[in-house]
Amino acid sequence: MKLLLDLRERLGFALILVSHDLALVSDVCDRVVVMYGGQIVETGVTADVMEAPAHHYARGLLGSVLSLETGAERLTQIRGVVPSPADFPKGCRFSDRCPMATGICRDTAPALEGTDGHGYACHHPRRHRQREGAGPMSATAEHRPIAELSDVHVVHASRGGGMFSREKVYALTGADLVIRSGETVGIVGESGCGKSTLAKVLVACNGRPPARCRSPARTCGR
Ligand code: SF4
Repeated sequence: MKLLLDLRERLGFALILVSHDLALVSDVCDRVVVMYGGQIVETGVTADVMEAPAHHYARGLLGSVLSLETGAERLTQIRGVVPSPADFPKGCRFSDRCPMATGICRDTAPALEGTDGHGYACHHPRRHRQREGAGPMSATAEHRPIAELSDVHVVHASRGGGMFSREKVYALTGADLVIRSGETVGIVGESGCGKSTLAKVLVACNGRPPARCRSPARTCGR
């Protein structure tokens, strides 16, 4: 990891870290992207997300790391399991597992809101004061965007539901993300949340002049 960070410093490339290791992500990443059910549910400057997560899935993920500093005796667990991509709930995809879920959560998918420095998709976020000056790395000449996703969808497979019916299974839904040169971005979430798919799309986009993937309802087959 140290070698990669040294190289990033010297060569100015962006580093995308797909990981379950929240401690590593909080140590080395400038920004963090939390994924659930193929969607970005929270994103922002690492310190802001780690210190004050707003989405209840991110809160559960962080609570599942035992902190020696707080002296917690038990790990927080997120109840249940990630639903199958063919079986996501209609509204918020985390609503079946969320202790704060209400009617609107089950009916309407929350949009990503907040600021560039800290965004979250939740109808009842844990609100907190934005830190002064918190924000992603500014888009200067040194930190130019090198990959930009806007409303990207990925279909991994079409499953036959009968002789003539084909069911699309979305691995990634409505992803918006900008990666800048010289920054390290951590993508975290449980297995099957879409972390690797998002990273693969970013890698596929990088290098295409103007290194952007912008297409509403874009679908990529496998
Ligand atoms: S939108 Fe509702 S169900 Fe989803 S994380 Fe927020 S409170 Fe929980």
